[in-house]
Amino acid sequence: MERKRLGVIGDPVEHSLSPVFQQPALDAAGIPATYERWHTTSADLPARLAGLRSPDAIGANVTLPHKEAVAGLVDDLSEPARRVGAVNTVVNRDGHLLGDNTDVHGFRRSLLEVLPDVALRGVLLLGAGGAARAVLIALAELDVAAITVANRSPERAERLIEELRLPRATAVAIEPADLAPRIRDYSVIVNATSVGWNTEESVLDRSLLERLPADALVVDLTYRPTGLLRLAASLGLATLDGLPMLVYQGARSFELWTGREAPTDLMMRAAMEARGVS
Ligand code: NAP
Repeated sequence: MERKRLGVIGDPVEHSLSPVFQQPALDAAGIPATYERWHTTSADLPARLAGLRSPDAIGANVTLPHKEAVAGLVDDLSEPARRVGAVNTVVNRDGHLLGDNTDVHGFRRSLLEVLPDVALRGVLLLGAGGAARAVLIALAELDVAAITVANRSPERAERLIEELRLPRATAVAIEPADLAPRIRDYSVIVNATSVGWNTEESVLDRSLLERLPADALVVDLTYRPTGLLRLAASLGLATLDGLPMLVYQGARSFELWTGREAPTDLMMRAAMEARGVS
């Protein structure tokens, strides 16, 4: 049987963990396909998408900075992709490209696994970019009653809340002076800013984290321990990094491409091994 192609489209893409857990999943399912890293500049994006229409291409994942642009280059969008306004999964259906988004599913599954009662909690979401949008949609779907979105530019948080029509959510600046009086009201913090991705800097300082309730959970979408998560753990708070979200979004992508149940445990083990921290 002809060997098929899959890949992750991004710029940069060298750091992507997706091939590390997608390839073993394809192999375990006996699907003759190779999953690659496809470094793609914005100028090359239309050609890359055109290449996905070929019969040997199954589809692709899409990562930074192309998730929004790809939404305008596919033939059809799934309902989740429409809501998020971004595509992280492309499926080639006989030359017709479907754009989907599995980030909302990935985040929801990873959060529910550690916090089944999240709907009863007060959630402080940090960030108002693409990842924050997916998180906010997941939190709304989970019927979380109290959500505050804090962003460096609070107007962007306000716009996001308006666009998603979440009248009960509120927007604030990410400034310590704005957060300090209310931080005790939250027992879930989700960092969806890019702070901590490539530095040890923590997006919230120690004095804020110290005021959180003892049962608080601190989540960071970056898929390794960050300054924020280290600080939270040193204060005895529960933490969750972005690796489970990454694997669960990838597992859903695998199911969209293949129509088969994803070997999620195997994918999680492969991702953890590659990251080097269990
Ligand atoms: P984005 O759209 O560029 O948004 C970046 C966000 O970070 C904005 O809210 C921005 O605030 C904020 N920010 C940037 N620098 C800041 C600073 N110095 N101080 C305070 N806030 C700052 O990026 P994104 O796509 O949402 O990605 C955000 C993070 O999520 C990345 O680290 C990415 O790797 C991670 N992520 C993880 C997964 C997963 O599967 N685990 C999936 C998607 C994304 P302004 O609006 O004020 O600029």
